[in-house]
Amino acid sequence: METIVSLCKRRGFIFQSSEIYGGLNGFWDYGPLGAELKRNIKESWWRSMTLLRDDVVGLEATIIMHPRVWEASGHTSTFSDLMVDCLLTKKRFRADQVDPQSGDAYFYSGASDAKAGKESKDPFSVLIGSGKHPEYARKVARLFYQQRGIENPEPLGERFEPVKNSVRYNPDNGALLTEPRPFNLMLKTYVGPVESADNLSYLRPETAQAIFVQFQNVLAVSRQRVPFGICQVGKAFRNEINPRNFTFRSREFEQMELEFFIRPDEAVEAICGAVAKPAGPGHPGEPQPNWGWQLWHQYWVEERLRYYENIGLPRQSLVEYWQKADELAHYARATVDVLYKFPFSKRDEKGELMGEELEGIAARSDFDLSQHQRFSGKAMVVFDEELKASWLKLDAAKQTELRDRYALARSHYLQKVGETPEKAAMQAAIDGEALSKGYYVPHVIEPSAGVDRLALALICNAYCEDQAPDEKGKLESRVVMRFHPRIAPIKVAVFPLLKNKPELVRKAKEVRDLLRPHLSVFYDEAGAIGRRYRRQDEAGTPFGLTIDFDTLGEKGPELQDTVTLRDRDTMKQERVKIADLVGRLTARIR
Ligand code: ATP
Repeated sequence: METIVSLCKRRGFIFQSSEIYGGLNGFWDYGPLGAELKRNIKESWWRSMTLLRDDVVGLEATIIMHPRVWEASGHTSTFSDLMVDCLLTKKRFRADQVDPQSGDAYFYSGASDAKAGKESKDPFSVLIGSGKHPEYARKVARLFYQQRGIENPEPLGERFEPVKNSVRYNPDNGALLTEPRPFNLMLKTYVGPVESADNLSYLRPETAQAIFVQFQNVLAVSRQRVPFGICQVGKAFRNEINPRNFTFRSREFEQMELEFFIRPDEAVEAICGAVAKPAGPGHPGEPQPNWGWQLWHQYWVEERLRYYENIGLPRQSLVEYWQKADELAHYARATVDVLYKFPFSKRDEKGELMGEELEGIAARSDFDLSQHQRFSGKAMVVFDEELKASWLKLDAAKQTELRDRYALARSHYLQKVGETPEKAAMQAAIDGEALSKGYYVPHVIEPSAGVDRLALALICNAYCEDQAPDEKGKLESRVVMRFHPRIAPIKVAVFPLLKNKPELVRKAKEVRDLLRPHLSVFYDEAGAIGRRYRRQDEAGTPFGLTIDFDTLGEKGPELQDTVTLRDRDTMKQERVKIADLVGRLTARIR
């Protein structure tokens, strides 16, 4: 990983934010190559979601939204981790990430400084290795009491107890930790000139909520009908306790999220007679009207895996992790995390990399829109003409069965979010009636990915060291970033063979200008041609073009207006007509 971090800095993929001031933990800037890479990732995602589909439209919402949004979404109350602080150094840990330790715990009831006539009654405790001299513990305790204003403290009431697998002590110094306390991950700010509770707002911790909040507006203008999706790419902020693994866990990052709205299964059954069951693993093919949440979920998992493969992450570098029942949020029916085997991932008992999350694909029921309906008082239902018409054709028994099943699910949801059973039953009965008239709150499948984690995965995946011949044919080692041409920051480099031959330079610039409107081009005339290739290999540029004397027709008309096209990965060179370049190259990057 260190090699990759240093290449990122050296080649201008990623820099530490505010580096000249010592950096800011959890914040990263993207240099020239990194900025292009990120743009390409976002564009490829946007293209796959919107331009290549009829059933997804885009949204670009604000980062700061009404604070009630975060109450409805649950972020104000539950978007928190339990934290503990070291009582001595104040270092903060996530409670579930403190390694269990065993040894002798020394307890003190306080400390005094007889000479200065000072005393503290604060209890404290220190964990040291079993059998170690208590002086080790006393030393740490003295530091603790000194911080409480006692210059020469003598710890009081010492007693010790052996402990096993305790997570109550700082693994670095043995000092006692505070009791676990929840720590909200949302970054706060104030809107307007007064810093009052009324003006408190949050930087969004995810982009998804804006999609739910704007659901009715988008529906009204987009001529879409359920099933359809709304997607968004944008910044998100989380005050992560331990930003780590380079950009993997940052405090400011970008997300690419899709909310794909579907009919509840009861509506599908009313319309199609039955809900189709998954036939087995793999891509289920073109969407069908009789798909319920299960097939739509499977479809999106497979679509997302295809996307990753399409931009160059091999299937074997990815893990499809199905969350277990006890890991699922109460409203989620299934969640699949797509993991990438980063070099810093943990290994399983066989030594295989287990992977870290790139994206989560969740079947979230109708939880999100229902929450915004409750909190805003605005209807989040849709009217489904087909459902209304189909319902009338059902026999009475089927109508009752579907209405009851739907009402039961609504009642479960309402009770989970705190309604009394009576109130939930009443509202659920109303919702059941609404279904029979063609109205329901859509369910949603949410593929939610991180741009920065994907950029890091692509960088890790692209990194390669191999041997390449220099100008004289002697093998030398090279670093090559094997980005897929679709996401490579620069697509093609254009080199005149010699810088001091105006005819070559003129022709090379002509080629550069011919290609520029179609793909990103880097023009370079400085240094030996081999060195220029090496630089582009490190930048991950898939194609190199050299304009030489043959291009000018010095060896006869056959080679005139042709250039050498060099492939970064195979290092094969071929002569290509300038007139064919745009077609040849754009076909490789689409
Ligand atoms: P994790 O468990 O790793 O904290 P999460 O399950 O909280 O992630 P989600 O809330 O599902 O993540 O966010 C969706 C995606 O946003 C993640 O899959 C990831 O790609 C990205 N993401 C989330 N948190 C961060 C972060 N701190 N830094 C960079 N990317 C992030």
